[in-house]
Amino acid sequence: MTDIADRDGDDESFQSFQLDQRILQSLTDLGYETPTPIQRLTIPLLLEGRDLIGQAQTGTGKTAAFALPLLNQVDIEHAAPQVLVLAPTRELALQVCEAMKGYGKHLKKLKILPVYGGQGMTTQLSALHRGVHVVVGTPGRLLDHLDRGTLKSDAIKALVLDEADEMLRMGFIEEVEKIMENLPPVRQTALFSATMPPRIAQIAKRFLKKPAEVRT
Ligand code: AMP
Repeated sequence: MTDIADRDGDDESFQSFQLDQRILQSLTDLGYETPTPIQRLTIPLLLEGRDLIGQAQTGTGKTAAFALPLLNQVDIEHAAPQVLVLAPTRELALQVCEAMKGYGKHLKKLKILPVYGGQGMTTQLSALHRGVHVVVGTPGRLLDHLDRGTLKSDAIKALVLDEADEMLRMGFIEEVEKIMENLPPVRQTALFSATMPPRIAQIAKRFLKKPAEVRT
């Protein structure tokens, strides 16, 4: 495990990352000038294809830290789910989804779908059927779609667990594990958690490959 501590005083710009120009353009539109510490550390590692454990709170810019490098890897011409983000609540799923839409707004034809319990199945089914590249959702509903075969997992190349400790606290961890067991084995995984309870550490050990560890 590589342990990478935060480096202060490093005023790298987003331009120094190997990100698609269209993604960099959206950051300019949003007024993002400098990467936050978690972004500075995480973006190059995820662009390299590394698995990652990020210990970071909300408000540190962790959404862009995983969203930018993973959007960068999406093949827009292939309308199949390629990136899957698991979030503990519908609110967080929607928030991550909106943020990712903002970062990907210049990637024409990019489709990002939020999927959560309590929302009608019909809307989700027709959107999945039309084709999406990124799915952001809560574990129960995502597992449901995977079980029904309405969410095809064969093209998934990256999985993000956002607020893993919250998913544990809310009782979703078994669903998270079932999802991980059912995804293609060759994939990149990024696990974000503000705290690292034993159960989360155990999941990281079981499913992540030589993860880099990033703390801010
Ligand atoms: P997050 O921790 O991902 O929820 O992000 C917290 C807030 O910071 C959000 O409103 C983001 O839009 C904003 N943000 C994230 N990264 C940057 C950045 N590099 N520069 C300015 N604002 C940012």
